[in-house]
Parts: sequence; structure tokens; C-alpha cells
Amino acid sequence: MTLLEKEKKVVTITYGCQMSERDAETLTEITRQEGYTSSNDLENADLVIVNTCCVRESAENRILGKIGELKKLKERNPGLKIAISGCMVQQPGALERLQKRAPHVDIWTGTHNLHDFSELLHRSETEKRIAEIWQESHQTMESTPLAEKGKLQANVNIMYGCDNFCSYCIVPHVRGRERSRQPQDIIREIKALAANGCKEVTLLGQNVNSYGKEFDPTFDFADLLQEVDQISELLRVRFITSHPKDLSDKLIMTIARGDKLCEHFHLPLQSGSNSILECMNRQYTREYYLSRVRKIRELLPQATLTTDIIVGFPGESEEDFEQTLEMINSVHYSQAFTFMYSKRSGTSAADMPDQIPLDIKKRRLQRLMSVQNEESYLLRQSMIGKRYEILVEGPSKTNPNRLTGRTRGNILVVFNGLPEVIGSLVTLKIVEAGSWTLVGELEN
Ligand code: SAH
Ligand code: SF4
Repeated sequence: MTLLEKEKKVVTITYGCQMSERDAETLTEITRQEGYTSSNDLENADLVIVNTCCVRESAENRILGKIGELKKLKERNPGLKIAISGCMVQQPGALERLQKRAPHVDIWTGTHNLHDFSELLHRSETEKRIAEIWQESHQTMESTPLAEKGKLQANVNIMYGCDNFCSYCIVPHVRGRERSRQPQDIIREIKALAANGCKEVTLLGQNVNSYGKEFDPTFDFADLLQEVDQISELLRVRFITSHPKDLSDKLIMTIARGDKLCEHFHLPLQSGSNSILECMNRQYTREYYLSRVRKIRELLPQATLTTDIIVGFPGESEEDFEQTLEMINSVHYSQAFTFMYSKRSGTSAADMPDQIPLDIKKRRLQRLMSVQNEESYLLRQSMIGKRYEILVEGPSKTNPNRLTGRTRGNILVVFNGLPEVIGSLVTLKIVEAGSWTLVGELEN
């Protein structure tokens, strides 16, 4: 670059799940290859990417607000390019509505053609209001760039899409059918990340437990984990999300025998009532779910469990809701992500009778959160005096004089220590606990 050439800056704003975050990283990496530098400085940006989520209406409203704010930014800086990507744009019929609402946007792109982004950027030099949304991806995306160099932790897609069609969920409608990446491509990506300094990978899929179901000869998620466990530079391997219906004994045993495979299962329950689970099309009962939890506890007594719960699904009675609370008290989750049911057009639950009024949903959510907070508090209290292996991530966000890291069970701990330990494993003794924080002391 000559002195006269201005450095181009890209600001990426992303919403939603880890897969969405991974997509945002891919888009940012593509812009880097096109000469942009990432930045947080919106006022001086040359390109803003908003990578969207549409899983709940609340997320969509926040994103629409953000896109609206960018209009004023573009009025102040007419050279600014705005690109909107991701699930919200991919929803059937959404593009026209969004384009009408936000004519100041330069590029609209969906979830299936991320690798196409550099071409869209080039086209935007001469074309206005580009929209490129593929209806379906028939391939897994292999040509997408790696995560940024030198990162301690990275997310790795092992599969795309979802075949489960839970009745409330928009994901299969915007991410397409399930497709698994070839094991050798995944391993190659993880080795390259490890060579760049990455110590922890999280394997991503909407339902990692059904990884490889189309492969012949068979090669399933447990087989993949065994291979990833062998990559020497890595310290830890995590994965998300496990659908309870497909959680096999083989997988639990593989984790029990593994070295770097972390003993944490994100096992979304959604509801504790069998009739609601059936209407949700979750394909398991509360009894089956509990039997899976028992198996985990038997083979991996130190494992932690986290979950997702929806309150106020159509037809949910007080009794159904009480059954969800009972499950929270029986499973002892370390954390629960709790949501009010949000009607998503195009899903089958959107047309179900007995939609629950907002005030009831809010009341149930509050109650659920307070029951879970008590559980989280008790679990953290029970950790006092015990020793845990921590991967040190860096300075704590809330107190930069302290360091922070996670247990193998994915519980955050803060402690006093020197920056030299960042990126390595240390042993901490837990000395203090609240609902959300744990304080540890380094053991020498
Ligand atoms: N594939 C993952 C979840 C993806 S979406 C799984 O099956 O667990 C993340 C979470 O958002 C879901 O687990 C669910 O709890 C919540 N969610 C999805 N659709 C929702 C909706 N319409 N209303 C409220 N919460 C929803
Ligand atoms: Fe949505 Fe169900 Fe697929 Fe998860 S498994 S992404 S909740 S349809």
C-alpha cells in the first residue's frame, strides 16, 4: 500500500449462535484478503457487515434497529458500504421486505454463499443494491478461510443445516438440510488452527450427534472426536449442540476415555412435559432424557450439563411448566439458556392454537430463571475447596487485573496470576463462589 492509499476498515457486527459467529469470522477473513483491516470504529468504517439471526423476534427487532442506525452513518459517510448477511436475509420471502425497509444497504447475502462474498464486494464497486441469496446449498463449504491467526480458541464447523424440524424452529428453513464435512477436511482445518497457536477448538453443528449419518463406511461423531483428540498441539476439544435423541453410549464412553475431550454436554431440554415435547417434535420423552443424564453421570461423574429451555410454547399449561421446573431441579444444570417462545412464520408451531399471552410467558421465564439461579449457585458453592484444571484465556472482562479461564466443564473462574500463564493449563483451587462467578487460587 502506498502512503496515498487509505487503509480500508471493516466493522463486523454479528448476532446469534456460534455458527453465526463462525460465519461472521469467515466474512471478515474474506474482507482481509481483499485488503480491509478489522476495526470497531463505526464512524471511520469503509464497510460494515451485519451478520443476522432470526431465531427469535427479539433478535430480529434489535437487528432492524441496528440497520436503521446505519442509515444515519451512511448519510454522514456516503462512501460507506453496508452488507447484511445471514439467517434473517435467508428466510423465505424476507429479502423484498428488508430491501424496502432498508434501501441504504449495498449488499444482501444469505447463509449458503459465504465463499462468494469477495465477488459481491467487487460487484458493489459498480452495481447498486446487490442481492445474492441461494435457496439451498448442495455442498459443504470447504473454501472458506480459517479463523484469525494466533487465536487461543476457535470454532470449527463439522456439519451444516438441520433435519430435525422442531416445530418452533426456523433453523432448518434458513440453514438447509444436514450435511457433514469430510473428516479429513475437518482434521486438516484443526491442525492448521493448532499450528497457528489455537489451543481449544469447539466443534459446531446444530446436532453434532448425528454427524456423519450419511457416510458409508460409517464414521460417526465419536469416531471424529477420537481423531481430533490425537492432535498434539491442542489442549482441549469442545462441541455443541447435542440433541438428546441422538446421544449415544459410544459418545459418552469416548469422552470418558479421551484426553482433551471436555466433559461438558450442552443438552437442550426445551420442555419437561411429554405432551409439549411431542408438540415440539423433539422426538424424546422426559424419561428418555433423564436416562441419558443418568448414563452421563454414571460414566462421567465430573461432567457438567447445560441446556436450553423455551417457556410459553403454544398450549403449555401451568402443569407442563411445573414439569420443566422439576427437571431443572433433578438434572442440576450448571447453566440454562432460557427463552420465551417466539412465533416464527413458516414453522408449524406458528399455526398452533393456544398461543400463550406475553404476561404469562414473562412470569414463567422469571420463575424459571430464579429456579436455575439457585441451582447455579448451589453447584458453584459445591466447588469450593476443590481443584480444577483451567485453560487460561486472558484478563477478566470485569476486572482486568485478574485473569480468567474455564474448567473442563466450561465454568468461568477468575484468579490472580501473571500474564505468562495465558494460553496454558493451570490448576486452581476454588476459594469463593457466587451464582455467576467463581474465584480460584493458583496451586503451585
Ligand atoms: N440446534 C440447537 C439449537 C439451535 S437454536 C438445538 O437443537 O439445541 C438455539 C435455541 O433457541 C434452541 O435450543 C431453542 O431453545 C431456542 N429457540 C429456537 N427457536 C425458538 C423460538 N421460536 N422461540 C424461542 N426460542 C427458540
Ligand atoms: Fe432447531 Fe431443533 Fe434443528 Fe435445533 S434440532 S436447530 S432446535 S430444528
